[in-house]
Amino acid sequence: MGDNLNIHAVIPRSRVNGPGTRLVVFFQGCARHCEGCFNPATHSFEQRELITPEALLGRHLSKGIEGITVSGGEPFAQPKGLLRLLELAASSGLSTLVYTGFKLEEVMEDEARDACLAFVDVLIDSPFASDLIEPTLLARGSTNQRIHFLTSRYVIGDLYMQGRAEVIIGADGVVRKTGFSSLDA
Ligand code: SF4
Repeated sequence: MGDNLNIHAVIPRSRVNGPGTRLVVFFQGCARHCEGCFNPATHSFEQRELITPEALLGRHLSKGIEGITVSGGEPFAQPKGLLRLLELAASSGLSTLVYTGFKLEEVMEDEARDACLAFVDVLIDSPFASDLIEPTLLARGSTNQRIHFLTSRYVIGDLYMQGRAEVIIGADGVVRKTGFSSLDA
């Protein structure tokens, strides 16, 4: 697959997936099957949409975007493409936020995954736990998930969202729901 990404969906402009207005990329494929996962349609590793990171940003990046958020699926299941996507974003001055079911320590154990961390501002780690739902507007699904500030770009106050979820009607007329509630299921 090379640097190609197998992606589930892209939301070009979201305000509930990290600080400011963000481009959100949902990777396809996750082996964890956490009970109550908001995005079960992302679990299959079947090919959904193959796209290079360059083409993805070229197609979806628009003015006024503060950064990219990478979610899933499991972003670190595609470390080569993830690295390229993060490199490109960072070199364009975009901030980077990545959600993963791995713990940070597990990411660091693998050379290819660890290389991605050099381009991540905020990593939100650990599998979703349906019995530990985040009760506040903090941008995580459950309270066991840890928020790692890998650079000084953001502080915890930046991770409180204006709402738990949003509904977006794309230019293609497709209605998409995103954020941190069962609206995503
Ligand atoms: S790690 Fe994330 S995408 Fe994977 S099953 Fe758990 S909540 Fe869903």
